[in-house]
Amino acid sequence: MKRFYDARPSNIRPFMDRMKLHISELDLPNVHIQQRNLFLFQPWNTPRFHYINPIAIYSKSTVAPVVFQRVFAYHRSQYSSYSAIYTDGSKRADYVGCGVVIEDIMHGYRLETSCSIFTAEAVAIYRALQLIDSHMPRKFCIYTDSMSVLEALENYHDCCHPVVCTILDITSRLYSKGFDIVFCWLPSHVGIIGNEQADSAAKSATTHLSLAVPLSDMKRVIMHHIFKIWQESWSRQLDNKLHSVKPVIGAWPVMPMRRTDVKLTRLRIGHTRFTHRHLLFGERAPECPSCNVSYTVHHILFDCPVFNHHRITFFHKSVLTLSDLVGESPHLNLFAFMKKIGFLYFI
Ligand SMILES: [Zn+2]
Repeated sequence: MKRFYDARPSNIRPFMDRMKLHISELDLPNVHIQQRNLFLFQPWNTPRFHYINPIAIYSKSTVAPVVFQRVFAYHRSQYSSYSAIYTDGSKRADYVGCGVVIEDIMHGYRLETSCSIFTAEAVAIYRALQLIDSHMPRKFCIYTDSMSVLEALENYHDCCHPVVCTILDITSRLYSKGFDIVFCWLPSHVGIIGNEQADSAAKSATTHLSLAVPLSDMKRVIMHHIFKIWQESWSRQLDNKLHSVKPVIGAWPVMPMRRTDVKLTRLRIGHTRFTHRHLLFGERAPECPSCNVSYTVHHILFDCPVFNHHRITFFHKSVLTLSDLVGESPHLNLFAFMKKIGFLYFI
């Protein structure tokens, strides 16, 4: 089969063959992927999770770091019998890590680069719970700057993140062993020492933590790669009419009326009934009688001097660009202009 397809490159190869090529290009790391949750809780035994947020009433954008430090100091005085544990996650282009600080001892772990920041933050909490497991039953307060992880822990459901499920499982086990654990949210980078230590441990870890990468993270990596390939291929399509309107791929908002949306799309791709119907009927291409050139969407919208005064009326200028009229947010008077010049019902 390979020989046949090599001989006729225009033939589309089978799905499996095309994917094989993409997978080798992607250079996927050899990682274990966690496909399903190992810990599923029975309906009568659903874990209950609660976190505290002593800083909830303050906004980071309007309050000085010193206020957070004071509020935190007050909170610590109330929870002085609880040992503080700080956790943090870090993600850069080629690095993912997490850090845990227990009684001034910093633990840093490096994770697979495919892991998301959410996974890194969750793994930090998971490691903290594993580390205290061997301690005598005691009181701990676990601090994290990831509100999304805390919210995911609070709103448990069957298909939630695998590390979130593991955290809930360990927590309920520790509770049954007599541990008293409080989870608390803290803002990042406000000068709380333990928090800063966890941050730096997360950023410069060398110890590799072998952990199955959640399927959702891997999907995101593959999606990112597919978009990159798509963008590269699209960037080479310089003769494509749509490319000049939309050089960067991505979803654009749709018009509220389907009929209008179809017309707008036809204008963007430069193919309309008026300019292209001759191809179906085997007729001659329509020509502009005053300019003696074939009609194109570009000629009608921008070039033809016959419509200049209408352009000035509707768009307040005669020299226009594609993105002015049919870009991501089309010109408000575009359809009024089309109607005036009599083109609207031939699109
Ligand atoms: Zn013309």
